[in-house]
Amino acid sequence: MALLPIRIFGDPVLRTRAAEVETFDEALARLAEDMLETMRWAEGAGLAANQVGVLKRMFTWAHDEESGALVNPEVVETSEETVDDDEGCLSFPGLFYPTERPLRARVRGRDVHGEELDTVAEGLRARIFLHELDHLNGILFIDHLARHDRKAAMKRIRAGELEEAARRRDAMPPLDEAAEA
Ligand code: ZN
Repeated sequence: MALLPIRIFGDPVLRTRAAEVETFDEALARLAEDMLETMRWAEGAGLAANQVGVLKRMFTWAHDEESGALVNPEVVETSEETVDDDEGCLSFPGLFYPTERPLRARVRGRDVHGEELDTVAEGLRARIFLHELDHLNGILFIDHLARHDRKAAMKRIRAGELEEAARRRDAMPPLDEAAEA
């Protein structure tokens, strides 16, 4: 397994729609493993392929002792009821803002072997799925923020906060070394 460099805001790949996965091969399974490893290392709850510079419709997630990869995901249905909890993104290290999301989402997709998945997520898990699905369409969490929060976020980004936080993160040791320390 390998740690993959995480792209941060400003990289055009984050604003690009990822392409449908057509081949469920060994390389796709390996990418999912590397993304899971990278996500755990960065202490994230989700990671979309765009964020490691790969324009494939796949994301990884971890929530409540469970984790996985979802390929070609689609939102089937979302609840009208929403939650306005703090949200962050590995491509915006250090930034957290209240972001309104549906409380529940039914999401359909495939696993890395091409098997169909159909799941109803609620609360934080729904938030993770919808956040990562947005990534695959070039949409970022700052697009959902209230106007004043978005302004504040952009000000911090222009001041170079993301680069600084990304440098600190890049200096972190890989997981196995961290466990030994
Ligand atoms: Zn994100």
